[in-house]
Amino acid sequence: MKTKERYCFLVCSGCPTPGRSRYTTHKRAKASYKLSKSKYCRFCRKHAIHVEKKL
Ligand SMILES: [Zn+2]
Repeated sequence: MKTKERYCFLVCSGCPTPGRSRYTTHKRAKASYKLSKSKYCRFCRKHAIHVEKKL
């Protein structure tokens, strides 16, 4: 990889047990912002905000 990127997890923020619904994504290593994306959660059975969580 030429550009420095690191992998991180996006976990559903609506689940009672956090971390069940996970998506892997990656972002630039020095990015300071927190990732949050609307993804389909099969446990909530709807689209929910997934927020970044460290590995
Ligand atoms: Zn969920």
